[in-house]
Amino acid sequence: MSERFAKSFTQQEPIPEEGIAAAVEVMRHGRLHRYNLAGGEAGETALLEEEFAAFVGARHCLAVASGGYALGCALRAAGIGPGEPVLTNAFTLAPVPGAIVAAGGRPVFVEVTEDLVLDIDDFARKAAASGARLLLLSHMRGHLCDMERLAATAADAGVQVIEDCAHTMGAAWNGVPSGRWGLAGCYSTQTYKHMNSGEGGLIVSDDPDFMARAILLSGSYMLYGRHLAGPPAEMFERYKFDMPNVSGRMDNLRAAILRPQLRDLAARRERWNALYRTVESGLRDAPGIRLIARPQAETFVGSSFQFRLPDLPPAAIAGFIAATAARGVELKWFGAAEPAAFTSRHVHWRYVAPQDLPATDRILAGLIDMRLPLTFTPGDAALIARIIREEAGCIDGRRAGAAV
Ligand SMILES: *Cc1c(COP(=O)(O)O)cnc(C)c1O
Repeated sequence: MSERFAKSFTQQEPIPEEGIAAAVEVMRHGRLHRYNLAGGEAGETALLEEEFAAFVGARHCLAVASGGYALGCALRAAGIGPGEPVLTNAFTLAPVPGAIVAAGGRPVFVEVTEDLVLDIDDFARKAAASGARLLLLSHMRGHLCDMERLAATAADAGVQVIEDCAHTMGAAWNGVPSGRWGLAGCYSTQTYKHMNSGEGGLIVSDDPDFMARAILLSGSYMLYGRHLAGPPAEMFERYKFDMPNVSGRMDNLRAAILRPQLRDLAARRERWNALYRTVESGLRDAPGIRLIARPQAETFVGSSFQFRLPDLPPAAIAGFIAATAARGVELKWFGAAEPAAFTSRHVHWRYVAPQDLPATDRILAGLIDMRLPLTFTPGDAALIARIIREEAGCIDGRRAGAAV
């Protein structure tokens, strides 16, 4: 008689009708390439850039082909050199070390805390030890570290910060939007992030030299004058013969789909957070479960939910995952020996030299992750929490049995 959940954890909402109509319009006129404009036309991509810059309060914005492309482009525009060390969170998604390596850099992993954010003390130590001048700060799964302290520590260490905001589009720390704390912020508009264009990315910055280099890198064919959210033309004169073209532009079709979603982002954040808070209160004080603290200063977007099952043997966690899956609740586990879907971790990235990360390894061993698509209702979220809570309550029994 146990309850079951029947919806899909990977089903996002449809594209808003307004976005569908705008996309059809772009297909009807055929000018999909961002620089293919009729007389007097700004183009969907340039308009999206202008609107996103205004949304986060940045001077400049560039729309690109993916979040991973945004990260690599930002590293190159920041002047990364061959073999240069780049600090980054030890708990992040594979596109982050991938972007560093693809840009010719060498990831140096920084430990994360039990609340899944960068350990700022370990960052300071590793900045000094490695001599790195770049931090690719990944707000993995939407958790923000103490951004004032991070910014001060980075400034002391002479380290420039590029933020990976794939899970923090629409989030803020003490009212300052995520992506606005360092040299640049990078976002993803891939289907599972906070706006959905299939694939896509955005870069924001106030630095005109950085943004001129990024726009040239993205493949602007000397048409940078068509950017509404770019720096003035004289900035490009400085760099236009020096920046290689690494094509990764966004097109007008995707931008047309995204613009109505941007207008709705603040409302969607509230809907996501209603789901998040429902799961959180349903799991409060559940046996064996450690929730992740959400600081007062953090405005987050609860598009996914994490919790920890500390100090359990892997077999007990695997049993819990299987038991919840049997009741329709799809959980991901960052501690499994083999990566499944997006759960790879630093030991699986064998293109990076192995690094000793005992704190992160201990945390990931018991870290459970769950998507919360907006196709779920608060009632769904409450049911999911009840199922997780009941199955977590059974783990202790299994462990006790196993110990005999
Ligand atoms: C999704 C994601 C990216 C990259 O986004 P893509 O658009 O899929 O390339 C980067 N960092 C994190 C943490 C992500 O989850």
